[in-house]
Amino acid sequence: MKSILDAVTSPHAGPADIAALPLPESYRAVTLHADEADMFAGMDSADKDPRKSLHVDDVAVPELGPGEALVAVMASAVNYNTVWSSIFEPVPTFAFLRRYGRLSALAARHDLPYHVVGSDLSGVVLRTGVGVNAYKPGDRVVAHCLSVELEAPEGHGDTMLDPEQRIWGYETNFGGFGEIALVKSNQLLPKPEHLTWEESACSGLVNSTAYRQLVSTNGANMTQGDNVLIWGASGGLGSYAVQYALAGGANPVCVVSSPDKAELCRRMGAETVIDRGAEGFRFWSDPHTQDPGEWKRFGRRIRELTGGEDVDIVFEHPGRETFGASTFVAKRGGTIVTCASTTGYLHEFDNRYLWMNLKRIIGSHFANYAEAWRANRLIAKGRIHPTLSQTYRLDDAGQAVHDVHANRHHGKVGVLCLAPREGLGVRDTELRRTHRAAIDRFRR
Ligand code: NAP
Repeated sequence: MKSILDAVTSPHAGPADIAALPLPESYRAVTLHADEADMFAGMDSADKDPRKSLHVDDVAVPELGPGEALVAVMASAVNYNTVWSSIFEPVPTFAFLRRYGRLSALAARHDLPYHVVGSDLSGVVLRTGVGVNAYKPGDRVVAHCLSVELEAPEGHGDTMLDPEQRIWGYETNFGGFGEIALVKSNQLLPKPEHLTWEESACSGLVNSTAYRQLVSTNGANMTQGDNVLIWGASGGLGSYAVQYALAGGANPVCVVSSPDKAELCRRMGAETVIDRGAEGFRFWSDPHTQDPGEWKRFGRRIRELTGGEDVDIVFEHPGRETFGASTFVAKRGGTIVTCASTTGYLHEFDNRYLWMNLKRIIGSHFANYAEAWRANRLIAKGRIHPTLSQTYRLDDAGQAVHDVHANRHHGKVGVLCLAPREGLGVRDTELRRTHRAAIDRFRR
């Protein structure tokens, strides 16, 4: 692996040199083990510890198929999907790998007793498979996490509608938490060259998701002047949604749970922030009963901060705990756009407020290649910035995932894979200088 690292970081190594590098038989990667999928049985979600289920193992380099690329991974980042896979909720991801494996002989490579997790990367292409023309060995890339087969008609208008749509590193194997990753070449995007490896690795999944959910016509189709309620506004998704709202001339109404998180929102340029911890909002009086009085208090607080206006869009992802309030506070004709259910996926809301006020609920999931491309382009141009707060070494990925599970993190948490330390990989120093303060906004 040392010769690979030396070559991919050398300014003198060309595509032929990288292509001629011998590949190792195995690489170090963060894995889950199928025979441990029951290890947390009977425990509360909050007590399930990713540090116990995530291992660092030597695993075999997968065979390269048509349309695919092997990438030397310099850095990756924690996404909440690795929290889910590491606590085996709502189902162990080995069920996804088994189902994928039934699709074809090539897909059967993914069905293994271990799962290399992780859905983001920055790195350098080592090998490309038959039929790959757009990328070659030596290309510096990031990867988005949409894996599609595109053999059915449904996905040809919007690739997210492909019936064989999967999230790489969650529903497929050989993800980003390793020294090497296997991706389809249509997951690759050019690395933003004003960013380090770890900064460029941290945005892909959440940035693309926030772009589709909030900006795209497939999502809420936000427009100038919209009031946008953003839950978890300093978290992974939220920190990008806030930037999109501001960049698009909207007014983000940020909800967070502590003063330091509120300060991060203000540093991004948001003026309207609600600290749900300090203001003590409790939308459920017990685990089975919501408190509409609290929805109303929350709505009044939003109006106080917006000069009497309700929100045009609610950027939803906490799910069960907030969905009743979200549906209530959206304005007449407004949109609740949801991509997740962190606190529970069986939502309850008072439908009278939805239908009588002609509100809409839209489901949104990741992003198609075109949306991911546009979101990455905005990062590359310095219009949207990574929200990396800290990084861990590959060996400590379990701790990194644990931090996110415990909601102890800010923005994004990075993982160094082949990158020996932070701060490497920048080529456009001029653009970096221009945006340095914004790039470092979340750093601890
Ligand atoms: P994250 O970095 O942990 O941020 C989530 C934020 O939610 C936290 O910062 C927290 O902010 C807030 N939150 C947690 N519990 C809450 C509660 N009870 N009420 C209100 N807010 C609460 O995670 P993320 O990366 O943003 O992901 C969030 C969810 O979206 C996860 O479930 C993830 O799996 C999902 N997701 C889905 C997609 C998709 O394509 N469908 C893509 C990305 C993520 P405060 O404590 O400051 O309020």
